Amino acid sequence: MDGIVDSLALKLAADGGACGYLTIDLAALCRNYDRLSSIVVPAQTAAVVKADAYGLGASQVSRALYRRGCRHFFVAHFIEALRLRPQLPGDAKIFVLNGLLPDNEAACADGGIVPVINSLDQLRQWSRTARSLQRRLPAVLQFDTGMSRLGIPPEDRGFVEAHLQASDDIDILFVMSHLASSDEIDSRQNADQLAEMRRIAAEFPSCGISFANSGGIFLGGDFHGVLARPGIALYGGAPTSGAANPMETVVRLDVAVVQTRTVPEGARVGYGGVHVTKGRTRLATIAAGYADGLPRSLSDRGAVYHKGVRLPIVGRVSMDSITIDISALPEGTLSFGSMVEVLGDHQTLEDLARDAGLISYEILTSLGHRYNRQYR
Ligand SMILES: *Cc1c(COP(=O)(O)O)cnc(C)c1O
Repeated sequence: MDGIVDSLALKLAADGGACGYLTIDLAALCRNYDRLSSIVVPAQTAAVVKADAYGLGASQVSRALYRRGCRHFFVAHFIEALRLRPQLPGDAKIFVLNGLLPDNEAACADGGIVPVINSLDQLRQWSRTARSLQRRLPAVLQFDTGMSRLGIPPEDRGFVEAHLQASDDIDILFVMSHLASSDEIDSRQNADQLAEMRRIAAEFPSCGISFANSGGIFLGGDFHGVLARPGIALYGGAPTSGAANPMETVVRLDVAVVQTRTVPEGARVGYGGVHVTKGRTRLATIAAGYADGLPRSLSDRGAVYHKGVRLPIVGRVSMDSITIDISALPEGTLSFGSMVEVLGDHQTLEDLARDAGLISYEILTSLGHRYNRQYR
């Protein structure tokens, strides 16, 4: 049964007839990787592929970046690492940012996955696992430099050092921390966190540092350390807010028109009848809604595009559809089966996110699974 469904889906993708096409440009992804790598060189560049590579497909994204030379992959949860491990050759390292929950240690060691150690408890537990397996185990130490989210707090640093001196069962690959405000170039917090990171580096002189996410890469060489960890910039999102986006577009989303109609002045549109037409209006209903990652906060806000013409969203966003005003197009331009652009040349991730009152990360990680996904 699944086979029949799969081959039908493939046929839809090839011949048309799909409700929407999510196109992921792996060549653009790789060019973004190259661009970031060239900024941080001689530091290396990892790929953050948590949350299914921000919704774009961790397996496809990771394998494309591996072929491009990437060897360090970060996920958030251990389950993501377990799923990704068989997709990548053995020399690819997979790191678990959130660290391990109790009882995941043996499976982690077994899978050759590297935990990020965020606390003294996690360090002790990983040491115990190493002793019971009678071999050294790799780890990354994450320190809290001022975000108060994850990482070893300042008051535990002495204990961590003492533990590492007393036992030789953990191989620290590098130390890391995460920036809270890296997308704001002028934020004071960046300098504060850098100063704290330097104090930590002095306490762990034999370890390299990993500090920069996408935004951090654009804060200058002081932030690059030995390994940068971009996520959003790889996927075409803007690394710095309020500045021109230097990254190439990776994601395109086109959605099909399923009905068109002309309504008189005073017609109510969508749930709750919150939108009332101000004159005779031509409308189209498109085949994607909040279940496909186009949030309800776009109701009566935001737009889609057809050949550069802006088509405003009218009324509430439904689960499976959105109604748009197509009066700006010559009559007959759009009909049943035509495509409109939701993300692409005329609308960036940031544009859509702004209209929805969200950030680009939320738009990407919510993109639905009912589109035909095409990797180029
Ligand atoms: C998500 C995450 C990243 C990647 O952040 P971007 O802003 O998407 O580049 C890097 N490091 C850590 C610890 C993260 O949680």
